[in-house]
Amino acid sequence: DLVDPTAQSEAEIAFEGALRPRSLAEFVGQRKVRGQLQLLLDAAAIQDRTPDHILLAGPPGLGKTTLAMIVAQETGRPLRMTSGPAIQHAGDLAAVLSALVPGEVLFVDEIHRMARTAEEMLYLAMEDFRIDIMVGKGAGATSIPLDLSPFTLVGATTRSGLLPNPLRDRFGFTAHLEFYETEELIEVLRRAAALLGVPIGEEALLEIASRSRGTPRIANRLLRRVRDFALVDGGGASVEAVRAALDLYDVDELGLDRLDRAVMTVLLKRFDGGPVGLNTLAVSVGEEADTIESVVEPFLVRIGLISRTPRGRVATRAGWAHFGLSRGQDALF
Ligand code: ADP
Repeated sequence: DLVDPTAQSEAEIAFEGALRPRSLAEFVGQRKVRGQLQLLLDAAAIQDRTPDHILLAGPPGLGKTTLAMIVAQETGRPLRMTSGPAIQHAGDLAAVLSALVPGEVLFVDEIHRMARTAEEMLYLAMEDFRIDIMVGKGAGATSIPLDLSPFTLVGATTRSGLLPNPLRDRFGFTAHLEFYETEELIEVLRRAAALLGVPIGEEALLEIASRSRGTPRIANRLLRRVRDFALVDGGGASVEAVRAALDLYDVDELGLDRLDRAVMTVLLKRFDGGPVGLNTLAVSVGEEADTIESVVEPFLVRIGLISRTPRGRVATRAGWAHFGLSRGQDALF
């Protein structure tokens, strides 16, 4: 799906790799987070120690992986990458941790999806750079302490609310990444267009940026589609080309795609604007609740089309207006 920042093809992973900023200075936007990170890295450098553990929280595609790579790059340390779903047992984590070299940066994407038993092992590892390895079973089981090399854990999560407190508390610094402003996305796009060698005007950049859901990954992805369109069309990356390309891919002027529109349509027409529970919405559009909660909902809330209430999700006045509908009109639909 064009605007689902979680779905990535092999080609896109390679494409993204080429566009990834390699230093904090190149990283666009998130000024506060950049400043805080810089301070944390500088302090560690002065004391010649590993930087504190860092938690990066926010919707997919906002730059969490990129920041983890930058932390390693800026401190001249090696980087090892893994993810929560790859750590299904404490043993999986023990294998990763015991192989770390001194000072290594360990990036764990989707850290909220790690196995519970591994989480407990991680507490001790983060705090004391050691783990206890269980050997044997039942009454004969013993634990053998194992010292680890000092490391910096960089955890990323789209759902910081799902992290147990003891884990959250062990990060020295938590950065909450925010959706990007249109101006910032224009900068991301300008940089990407230059790297890709795509000549494109300011007006066309603005048109792409305003349809990118505040998300650099989506901005870059739309740019790629526009580049393809311009290539085939032969007319260059004009505003008209942007509009035609994005219409072709069902991305509307607010950046809503088919799934966003399906959610809004169900909410407005079937539930007369709500309130309705997230799971009900997910089932109604045939999508996983997690995708609705971490990808669709944050954006619809941010642009003010829906709001969260204790009784469920409701459409706002702007939500009704964007779809040209009003309450009660389709209640029997
Ligand atoms: P996440 O890990 O949060 O899902 P990524 O770090 O993989 O997101 O970022 C997705 C892509 O978006 C990257 O490949 C990069 O090209 C681009 N990107 C993300 N943040 C920025 C930024 N601040 N400046 C420039 N490009 C960015």
